[in-house]
Amino acid sequence: MDTIQSDNYPIFFENSIDELANFVKQGRYSRFFILTDENTAQHCLPLVKSKIEDQDNFDIIEINAGEESKDIDFCIGIWKMLIDFGADRKSLLINLGGGVISDLGGFAASTFKRGIDFVHVPTTLLSQVDASVGGKTGIDIDSIKNIIGTFTQPKAVFIELGFLDTLPAKQILSGLAEMLKHGLIQDANYWNQLKNSDLSKPSAELVHRSVAIKNKITVEDPHEKGIRKALNFGHTIGHAVETYSLINDKDHLSHGEAIAIGMICESYLAHKKTGLPAEELKEITDTLNNLYPRYTIHESSFDTLFEYMKKDKKNQSGNINCTLLTNIGQCNIDNICTEAELCESLLYYIN
Ligand code: NAD
Ligand code: ZN
Repeated sequence: MDTIQSDNYPIFFENSIDELANFVKQGRYSRFFILTDENTAQHCLPLVKSKIEDQDNFDIIEINAGEESKDIDFCIGIWKMLIDFGADRKSLLINLGGGVISDLGGFAASTFKRGIDFVHVPTTLLSQVDASVGGKTGIDIDSIKNIIGTFTQPKAVFIELGFLDTLPAKQILSGLAEMLKHGLIQDANYWNQLKNSDLSKPSAELVHRSVAIKNKITVEDPHEKGIRKALNFGHTIGHAVETYSLINDKDHLSHGEAIAIGMICESYLAHKKTGLPAEELKEITDTLNNLYPRYTIHESSFDTLFEYMKKDKKNQSGNINCTLLTNIGQCNIDNICTEAELCESLLYYIN
């Protein structure tokens, strides 16, 4: 698989951990730090360490796994450890983990001493096809997702597909939602290819194609002034459902599971508002319902969901905004949706 050249940084797909080792051995950095969570420390760190064992200028920072770590307290913890370990401006942070690690680590690095370099080694499917590419970093406040953050590009991304071998099926499904989204917003052939593939373990080719779509869009519009908003398809309703589940469910929905629900609801809105044909709405709904477990949403929780949607940072002038499909493979950004329309779309999902 070819290396993808992003704006100013490479995204490696072959021998990626060797490439990472070469990168840190070039002598550009005074010290480096590997940010892991408890799971990536167990499953992914040994391979990385084995490639850099001749280096003595690195330390490990390990945090708890899960979205709950993506907040300011954990960020302060990272800043303090960097200070304690003597990090200077020529230090490098290596984010070894899923989207929580890349968002949090990217944010901590982009603000520490007004910004130190960082690279991503994404270890979940979701972070490989989505979170590690495009330069968004962020943390949550009071469960409001990604409300604080920066646009800062990594210096490189190292995608090692072997890391997916230890990833639970729920997390594979989570990443798959973003891959399906890439097809739905931009590439009908890719959507069809995904639908006809064994998705329990997506192939290198499918991962590469998804990264290429995400990269192309984010290079064109790094600060989300226009076309990058296409990537928000499914995320207006999906983020609200994700927040709701994070607060209310012990075994909460993954990001992608919530986005899959959002994509069904927003496809319904697209059918009503931007001309998505009925048979394509059915195709999307059936495909996603077959792949993802049903999630119970009671009508009594709609008000809470709207409250979350109103706080969404994508809103403009107080209006709730959605990216909607016009056809499978094409979309239209900046569609204002009323509460009544959003309510109808949630009812469509429920029924
Ligand atoms: P995550 O980082 O919490 O990882 C999911 C779980 O898998 C965690 O328990 C983690 O410890 C575990 N894990 C990671 N790698 C593993 C491996 N190789 N083997 C076994 N277990 C492993 O979550 P995620 O789904 O990767 O990312 C979700 C986050 O990404 C959300 O916070 C979301 O907002 C963010 N995100 C950011 C962007 C962006 O553009 N910056 C895009 C999409 C999502
Ligand atoms: Zn997403």
